Amino acid sequence: MDAGRKRELEAKVYSGERLTREDGVALYESDDLTWLGRLAHHVRTEKNGDRVMFNVNRHLNLTNVCSASCAYCSFQRKPGEKDAYTMRVHEAVAKAKEMEGEQLTELHIVNGLHPTLPWRYYPKVLRELKAALPDVSLKCFTATEIQWFEKISGLGASEILDELIDAGLASLTGGGAEIFDWEVRQHIVDHATHWEDWSRIHRLAHEKGLKTPATMLYGHIEEPKHRVDHVLRLRELQDETGGFAVFIPLRYQHDFVDSADGKIRNRLQARTTMASPAESLKTFAVSRLLFDNVPHVKCFWVMHGLSLAQLSLNFGVDDLDGSVVEYKITHDADSYGTPTTMHREDLLTLIGDAGFVPVERNTKYEVVREFPGPVSLAERRAVPQQVIA
Ligand code: SF4
Repeated sequence: MDAGRKRELEAKVYSGERLTREDGVALYESDDLTWLGRLAHHVRTEKNGDRVMFNVNRHLNLTNVCSASCAYCSFQRKPGEKDAYTMRVHEAVAKAKEMEGEQLTELHIVNGLHPTLPWRYYPKVLRELKAALPDVSLKCFTATEIQWFEKISGLGASEILDELIDAGLASLTGGGAEIFDWEVRQHIVDHATHWEDWSRIHRLAHEKGLKTPATMLYGHIEEPKHRVDHVLRLRELQDETGGFAVFIPLRYQHDFVDSADGKIRNRLQARTTMASPAESLKTFAVSRLLFDNVPHVKCFWVMHGLSLAQLSLNFGVDDLDGSVVEYKITHDADSYGTPTTMHREDLLTLIGDAGFVPVERNTKYEVVREFPGPVSLAERRAVPQQVIA
């Protein structure tokens, strides 16, 4: 990128002018990572100061049995496969109760598209979870699952959402988005939920007062222009509804040979590589710069590792999901050494050590608790830093 174009983009960012599709593609073409980080950090600081939000949450997957076979997915199993499972309602509640410690504020629940479970199962699970854990917010189901419930129940998404909200649903999850551009999507997604239905369902959720997250799966066969297109579609929907609380770029993960059956389930593996750490930082930064109307950008540390999560805080990120203990969808594909457990204290250290102020939030991004900012550099040097393994 020549110096004139750089100055033009800088001027737009510092004056708060909305960036265009061409600007987004040009930012991805830049190799000047420090410059991109500086611009994104300016926007992030304008919106969120030096605060980094996190929450205390756990992930629960009711079933890994799925009717679809998305090319990147190493989580799904077919009925009868050795490690296919489906929880009964009381088993789901018992599992959630096991996870309850440490002042849990959120359960994050996503599942396969089970071919025979009836629709009634899902609101029943939510009602019983809410009865057992009344102080825990239930962030559940992708737009893909909601469309699946339409298919198996014969109801419309509006009635489905009404019933789920009545049963305790606090938010949808942001999954099922992947990359919306059909040129890419047709090669990676096997379910029926594309942009038209994904946006229809999130719009409906926003109309009913829910705040939802939006995600993007990057680092596979897509190109930067597809990432820009993805964000701009969401930005337009956000102009209309204002219902997205956070944008979450999710790094595509390679699979490993499953020791249970010797299989690699991911069919993209031979065609692609994972995004490098530099590409991930660039994706966080450009997303922050383009997405001027969403308050938060999150790094899901499970998919990026802790070092990159700390660095991402200087590239537009102001939210680190959460104190996850078990995250099956990635950990089924993960052999990259990310820890499976992070507690509140670990997150406080991670955020403070990077020079930011930790703030615990709930599902609605309301502040639960503010913590002291980082100690001075001199003090930090006087005390050996905790290494999180
Ligand atoms: S990504 Fe979701 S819908 Fe696609 S195969 Fe995996 S579990 Fe099923």
